[in-house]
Amino acid sequence: MDLVLRDARLAQRDGTLARVDIGIHDGRIARIGERVEDAARTIDIGGRLAVPGFVETHIHLDKACILDRFVPQHGTLDEAIAQVAAAKKAFTEDDVFARASRALERAIVNGTTHVRTHVEVDPGIGLRGLRGVQRAAAAYRWAVDVEVCVFPQEGLTNSPGSGELMREALAGGVRVVGAAPYTDPDPRGQIDRVFMLAREFDADIDMHLDLGDSPEHMDVEYVCEMTERHRYGGRVAIGHVTKLSLVPPEAYERIARRLADAGVGVTVLPSTDLYLMGRGQRHSVVRGVVAAHDLLHRGVNCSLSTNNLLNPFTPFGDCSLLRMANLYANVCHVGTREDMRECLDMVTARSARLLRLADYGVEAGKTADVVVLDSATPETAVAELSLPLYGFKRGRMTFSRQPARLYPP
Ligand SMILES: [Zn+2]
Repeated sequence: MDLVLRDARLAQRDGTLARVDIGIHDGRIARIGERVEDAARTIDIGGRLAVPGFVETHIHLDKACILDRFVPQHGTLDEAIAQVAAAKKAFTEDDVFARASRALERAIVNGTTHVRTHVEVDPGIGLRGLRGVQRAAAAYRWAVDVEVCVFPQEGLTNSPGSGELMREALAGGVRVVGAAPYTDPDPRGQIDRVFMLAREFDADIDMHLDLGDSPEHMDVEYVCEMTERHRYGGRVAIGHVTKLSLVPPEAYERIARRLADAGVGVTVLPSTDLYLMGRGQRHSVVRGVVAAHDLLHRGVNCSLSTNNLLNPFTPFGDCSLLRMANLYANVCHVGTREDMRECLDMVTARSARLLRLADYGVEAGKTADVVVLDSATPETAVAELSLPLYGFKRGRMTFSRQPARLYPP
């Protein structure tokens, strides 16, 4: 073995926790057992929880960390889009690379080993954002795998040139195509075109959808219909869907069933949704965070993610997915041990399934992407925001930190 993680606490398939050694060789988990010997290096983790690396399914690296350029006045979606559209004109490839790198470093030290990042393409920014993000992805490949999704933030049917740039990106190897139909004068026209692009390039789909603080004009059922028509079940994800938190119970049940049947995954973005929603209200303010753990009970796969970081869409953030799980659990009244564990799954195994990562998990034979948390159980990790103490990517340590020490007099 190149490395043994001695005395790790590991969740088993039946939900129990076992204390085991994790043997790593040649970048993979070679053996898990009560005692694994013959290691070049051993790290005793003292019964702490080992989990697979966190998976960020939805983050905007190209427009991260620009709060020094614009200060949000109203905190609305329209303001955020307008401010970023203005700031974007000055983005250079080097600038995007530097900010994406900053964001990725924060993600790495918080335990993230996989990222799907949404990148804006339109005639204003061209492919500069994409190139800067791709450079950062290559620079940090030692610690995190980055997958890109290109999307037209400022509209597609109304923006001549955006579709061509998306095609160019997809032809160049981008594997995921995104959307933001609510910024398009013809939302369903945009959805149709995105499905056509996905079919043409055999790309997966990840749309921003139904972001708003009233339940009118929802596109979620149309996306389910298109997913079935194109036989794309399991390859479509939708993010935000804040309107789903506002529909009456009968409609909620119907839509949840449609999502489960069509195989459309849902990504909840608690920090952004809390920040942008309910801005027009002075009382009984809408929070707009969909109860993902309830959707899971109805057969919908869900993930929790960061979305935006230190920009007019979300002037907060540290790329900690554990913090996102804790925030979500708090806002959405998660209380049972099972649902608390689901919150951890929604930043690990469930996120991995949403991204269709086959080689994922702390199991013999899988790539050794492992994070050690200063916690003994999954539910306390979420409840107590336990610190990630070690991270490993393909078996190599990528970061470490010491737990705090007390110095009594
Ligand atoms: Zn987004």
